[in-house]
Formats: sequence, C-alpha cells, structure tokens
Amino acid sequence: MPINKEKRILVVGASIAGPTLAFWLTQYGFLVTVVERAPALRLGGQNIDVNGPARKIVQKMGIEAAILAQNTTEVGLQIIGQDGEVAGEFPKEASLTGTRELEILRGDLVRILYDCSKKHVDYRFGDSITALEQHPDEVSVMFASGKTETFQLVIAADGVRSKTRKLMFGDEPQFKSLGLYIAYMTIPRQENDNDWWRWYTAVDRRVLMLRPDNKGTIRASVAFLEDNRATHEKRPTEEQKSVLKTKLAGAGWEADRIRQAIDGTDDLYFDEVGQIKAPRWSTGRVAMIGDAAYCPTPISGKGTTLALVGAYVLAGELSRHKRHEDAFAAYEKLMRPYVEEVQKLPPGTPRLVYPETKFGVSVLNRVAGIMASKPVQKMVGLFSSDPAEEENKGIDLPDYQ
Ligand SMILES: Cc1cc2nc3c(=O)[nH]c(=O)nc-3n(C[C@H](O)[C@H](O)[C@H](O)COP(=O)(O)OP(=O)(O)OC[C@H]3O[C@@H](n4cnc5c(N)ncnc54)[C@H](O)[C@@H]3O)c2cc1C
Repeated sequence: MPINKEKRILVVGASIAGPTLAFWLTQYGFLVTVVERAPALRLGGQNIDVNGPARKIVQKMGIEAAILAQNTTEVGLQIIGQDGEVAGEFPKEASLTGTRELEILRGDLVRILYDCSKKHVDYRFGDSITALEQHPDEVSVMFASGKTETFQLVIAADGVRSKTRKLMFGDEPQFKSLGLYIAYMTIPRQENDNDWWRWYTAVDRRVLMLRPDNKGTIRASVAFLEDNRATHEKRPTEEQKSVLKTKLAGAGWEADRIRQAIDGTDDLYFDEVGQIKAPRWSTGRVAMIGDAAYCPTPISGKGTTLALVGAYVLAGELSRHKRHEDAFAAYEKLMRPYVEEVQKLPPGTPRLVYPETKFGVSVLNRVAGIMASKPVQKMVGLFSSDPAEEENKGIDLPDYQ
C-alpha cells in the first residue's frame, strides 16, 4: 500500500487533527514532522465527545479503550432554572442529551493521540512556520526558529485561527462569526457539585456551564452574545479575565463563584465562536484539516469528530493516490458534503438560546422542562432512530488498509 516512502510531510499543529493525521501517515510509510507553536502539548479545554464515524477511527487506531478509561464521569445534562433548581434533566441514556459514551477531556484525548503517534513522528515543540514557498516538487518552509527546510507536502492542522491558512490564501475572509464568545477554565470542585453537566441561562444573553471531570476539578464555561465584534480573543489574559468578571456581574446562580475562581485559573481559553467556510482546502502542495479548514464551532458538538475524520480521510487518500493533487481532490470530494451537513446550525442559533429578558429565560427553561419530561422523552425515543446510527450518517468511511 505505501506509495512513496520518501515523501516528507510537515503537519502544523499538535492537538487533535495533527497527531491523528501523523499517526495514519506513518502507518502508510510517510516521513512525518509535526511542528507545534506551544512549548509542550496544550492540555487545556473541556469535555468533548468522540462520536459517529470518529468512533470507528479510534477503534481502528486501537485507542478506544484508552479513551473510555479517561471518561469524564458526566452522567447527563441538567438545565438549571433562575431559582437555581433543576428545570429539566437529560440523563446520558436519554434521546436528547449532550453527554456521550466516549466523553473525554480535550487534554486527555490530545495526550492519547500524541502517545500513540510519537514513536514514528518527529514532534517539534516551540516553533512555527513563518513563510511557505511552493516549488514544482517541494515546499520550502521557513520556521520562526530561523531554519529553512523542504517538505513534499505541508498540512495545516493549526486550528480555527490558522496562520498557515493565511499563508495559503492571504486575507480571504473565511471566519464567519456567530457573535458569540466562550471562555473555558478549570475551577476547584466544591462539596455541592455533582456529576451533571449543569447549564444555566442568565438574562442579558449569558450562559454559564459547569461540568465534572475525572481530575477532581470542575470545568466551567461562560458564553455570551455581543452585537459588536469586540476582539476579546486578542486581549492579554489579564484583560480577558477582567472582561469576564464584568460579564458575570449579576448573572446569578454560580456566577460569583466563577468570578472568584477566575483570578486563580491558569488555563483560560477565550475565543470568539465562528465557523470556517473555506472555498478550497488546498493550494498546490499545501492542504488543511480540522478546525483550520472547517471549524463547525463548539455549538455543533462535532469539532473533534470532524478533525478525526478529516485526518483519517486525508491520510488514506494520500496513501491511495500517486499524485497529491488527486489525493487532495478525493479528500475534499468525500469530506465536503459531510462538513456542510455538520456546519448546518439549527435556525435561530445561537440567539434563540441566549435570551435577553427574564421572561425569555423562563420560556426557554419551561420548554427544556417539557422536553425533559418522561412522556416527551418517550415519544422522542419512539420517533427517532438509534442515535449511534443517526450520527454515522453523512459519510461512508473508506477502509484504506
Ligand atoms: C487549548 C485549547 C483548548 C480548547 N478547548 C476546547 C473546549 O473546551 N471545547 C471545545 O469544544 N473545543 C476546544 N478547543 C478546540 C478543539 O480542540 C477543536 O475544535 C477540535 O478538536 C479540532 O481540533 P484541531 O486539532 O483541528 O484544532 P485545535 O484543537 O484548535 O489545535 C490547533 C493546534 O495548533 C497549534 N497552533 C496554532 N497555531 C500554530 C502555528 N502557527 N504553528 C504551530 N502550531 C500552531 C495550537 O497550539 C494547537 O495545539 C480547544 C483548543 C485548544 C487549542
């Protein structure tokens, strides 16, 4: 099956998509270097799930058991009303739930993917690329460290804010903002915490969430809508913390606790939520995967799944085709309809679930209560197909080996 063992490939970014691609490429005999800007693996982030076709991929990689062993212990989703009481509950077995069987902290998954690929991959931390020069048979890559090297192909897996994408397509606008900001952080666990994903909607278009983890801490997130693009993501961490504390004022429920914990947290991740809609995923010898190419936003719950599937498909197509142009075209042909399906957000998203007034919040919570009630759950269960089957829809994964 390997077609060209001399082919040197540079992958940019060591998170989810990068190490998955590196794993599969080395399986097919390619020589792979991964460059990561951070000085070490970035292990922050919250509960994510591996579902649908991505589950088949982690099974093929032999890491499903390792993922199951790092389960976050989350038992389902609770909607918290304005009085702090549970307004509706969706256990993980329910038809409408956000908690899946393969629920894992993002950092744990990054570590597993790195561990299973590192033996055959040249990982380089603390460096990044500053320029790309395409030639007929190779790409010259200039690194921030001052080195210049050549590779046959370069693959961007450097996330939603990808610098490589910019080097490929210039300032072509590909980030479509939803006007929503989300901040993730780890905070101390308290006696009154439980193992539910707790979702609280506050007035003035704010949502607070607390989720359990398997480390004895709690993963908190704060999301809010803003009409004007405020570029909070570009601020230094201390300024971001101050923005968040202001946003949390008067939000109720656990807002004061999160406010107090913000100063002590060292893993704040604060970004504007938006989708990447790129008309092309490659140019010449450079291509993109994961959030860099088609970020669907955390709202979709499918960012990790798309990153795993895209990496698997691109590596597989490169192993099948002699010419990289054919492999890139086949990858895009297979992935694009699936990506377009995943990127379709429900109408009114996200404004509908971020009401401004107390009345709006109470209507939303009442609807959640009705959806969570036993008769409705039963009815939804009767009319919906098996969730696993449902999630597998959209892409027929080829068996490349
Ligand atoms: C620290 C962190 C925390 C996150 N937390 C959450 C979360 O809580 N919930 C959620 O749904 N999603 C989270 N995400 C996003 C999530 O990981 C992705 O949506 C998804 O898994 C797809 O992954 P990806 O590998 O395509 O991109 P990302 O996970 O975004 O990874 C991109 C990687 O590329 C590296 N990188 C960026 N620029 C360069 C550069 N110029 N040169 C070299 N390397 C570069 C980054 O440091 C990062 O390691 C987080 C991402 C990060 C980086």
